[in-house]
Amino acid sequence: MHVLNLDIPFDCRFTCWFCGEGSHQTIVTTLKTRQAVNMPICDECKSYRCHNESSALVILEKLIKDKIVKQSAKALAIGANWTEKELQESELTGSAFDGFKKSGWKMFLIARERVNFSGWELSIDGVPIENTVVDENFVFDGLTFTSFITMLDYLSTTFSLNKDFLEQVLTLYGDDRAIEAVKFCRLVPNESKSEREKALNDLIASFKEKDAMRY
Ligand SMILES: [Zn+2]
Repeated sequence: MHVLNLDIPFDCRFTCWFCGEGSHQTIVTTLKTRQAVNMPICDECKSYRCHNESSALVILEKLIKDKIVKQSAKALAIGANWTEKELQESELTGSAFDGFKKSGWKMFLIARERVNFSGWELSIDGVPIENTVVDENFVFDGLTFTSFITMLDYLSTTFSLNKDFLEQVLTLYGDDRAIEAVKFCRLVPNESKSEREKALNDLIASFKEKDAMRY
């Protein structure tokens, strides 16, 4: 198999195409055009071993991004539960918390950057390759997810929400109003099936009411 080398923009030399961390190695991936290319990847993204599951770049990118979100759950939760100011001004004391205060926010920022990083447009010898970048994105509070499932997993874990319930509420609100959907879910005792059903019925009724008012 003939493996091609991609053009690497000057400011992206030694950069992982998937997450933006430093890279000194490549893996072979295949493009939609069936061409095989050497793709720069960092140690951490490579350690997820997603390339054993698929070599197709469109699939691989989603698999790796999903792994980054899952592996960074703790770091991402810091940003979901605190603002930087709150963290600094918090009353948390003791040696365990000192470390958390100092490094916690930094860990969150690094994790967020890796989740949100979007690889450069691909080309070979100056010839652009048809859209390799994920076309559909889901955004929640400054985080960009490459698949709905990844976002759903992240939100249900981070906010301890029942996943099916969250999915139904998200569908009602629409992806662009995910923050409101999560806020709604957090108001409902999530462990109670009857409470969830009641809340869902109320929500459906209120959406119907709003629709009726519009026409
Ligand atoms: Zn990486």
